[in-house]
Amino acid sequence: MVSEITLRIPYSHTCPKCGAYYIPYGKDVPCPRCGLVEEERFEDFISKAALALLYNYANYGSFSIPPEDWSPVTLSEYIVHVVSVLFDYYKQRKGDFEKFAEEFLDLFEEWGEHSYLKKHIKDIALEVYKVVSKNLSGEI
Ligand SMILES: [Zn+2]
Repeated sequence: MVSEITLRIPYSHTCPKCGAYYIPYGKDVPCPRCGLVEEERFEDFISKAALALLYNYANYGSFSIPPEDWSPVTLSEYIVHVVSVLFDYYKQRKGDFEKFAEEFLDLFEEWGEHSYLKKHIKDIALEVYKVVSKNLSGEI
């Protein structure tokens, strides 16, 4: 039996100024709602997210884990989940990744007051895609 179905990323975050949910990844990615650049960083979020997707792909043949087998607990895991489903759909379609990501995210959630998260997740998906596509040359 496998005890851990995928890699856990125990990190959630909200902006101290405006309360937006986001990940302050990299060296200076600002809050997607108010633009605050925080001192708190999760610098290697992109590589952790890419690792989780590569782990899933190697072990299960898909980037996402079916929701009945696993569900995200933290904001990081929720974002990785969204990106993983996006990658699974993109793999069947190919074409322009950024355009696909935009259209996919429009349909994925009723973003409502969290519409800033849509662009944030798209930016993350683009960064993760660079790492994952390099590691799986030709497969995605
Ligand atoms: Zn903010």
